[in-house]
Amino acid sequence: MLAKEVFIEEMTWPEVKKALESGSDRVIVMAGSIEQHGLHLPTKMDAHSAEVLAELFAKRLGKTLVAPIIRPGCSEHHMYFPGSMTLRKGVFQDVVRDYVDNMVRHGFKNIILATTHGGNFDPMQELVPELKAKYEAQGIKIIPILDFAEFVEAQNSILEEFKMDEGDAGVHSGGSETSFLMASEPESVRMDKLARGYVGKFDAAFDEVLMSKGMQAVTDIGVLGDATVASKEFGEKLIDALADYYVEMARREL
Ligand SMILES: [Zn+2]
Repeated sequence: MLAKEVFIEEMTWPEVKKALESGSDRVIVMAGSIEQHGLHLPTKMDAHSAEVLAELFAKRLGKTLVAPIIRPGCSEHHMYFPGSMTLRKGVFQDVVRDYVDNMVRHGFKNIILATTHGGNFDPMQELVPELKAKYEAQGIKIIPILDFAEFVEAQNSILEEFKMDEGDAGVHSGGSETSFLMASEPESVRMDKLARGYVGKFDAAFDEVLMSKGMQAVTDIGVLGDATVASKEFGEKLIDALADYYVEMARREL
């Protein structure tokens, strides 16, 4: 079960009311995804990591609740693989708009936007000017943590310590993400299916092929990185580092 001190969906309405009245006026609106994650991780991976990180983020920041994780997200580039789901960009953006509206109506004053899935960063970031224009005059702060490069950098900040290569760590079902689940929910990792996928550069040219032709054009198993280098210890450190990254980014604007 999700932590009932911070997840709105686990709370009763009087508990939410009490939290708001005692100063918990910050809320995290985080999006994950439901999409293929290679041969060894479940499709819920990004929604799961959003839950794990949002809980730590909210607890470390304090006075913060978490809206239900948005799942699925924008995953058109994974649709070749069975089980993947995607929302049309406009539908996804409307969901985010309504989430923010709902939170504002209940009295939250600081709305933090974040995502654990690469394909959601741009669609969410595009909404920020509109949301700021709409809500800031009412004294509501919109706090986006939506820079994909920064997110990957935070993720890669522990590589040296573990002597893990950037290509192996990967950005999808590779060393990093597999380690995450080994630490947070090990029973969900198919340990006999760990494999090495695409381990080349993640540059603009790569991105272009990925987004125009789909994931299957670069890896036939749906893995960017090398899952065989993953470890629980790396995962524990990674979760800690990412939670700290979110807190640091939010504090800059609070
Ligand atoms: Zn993922």
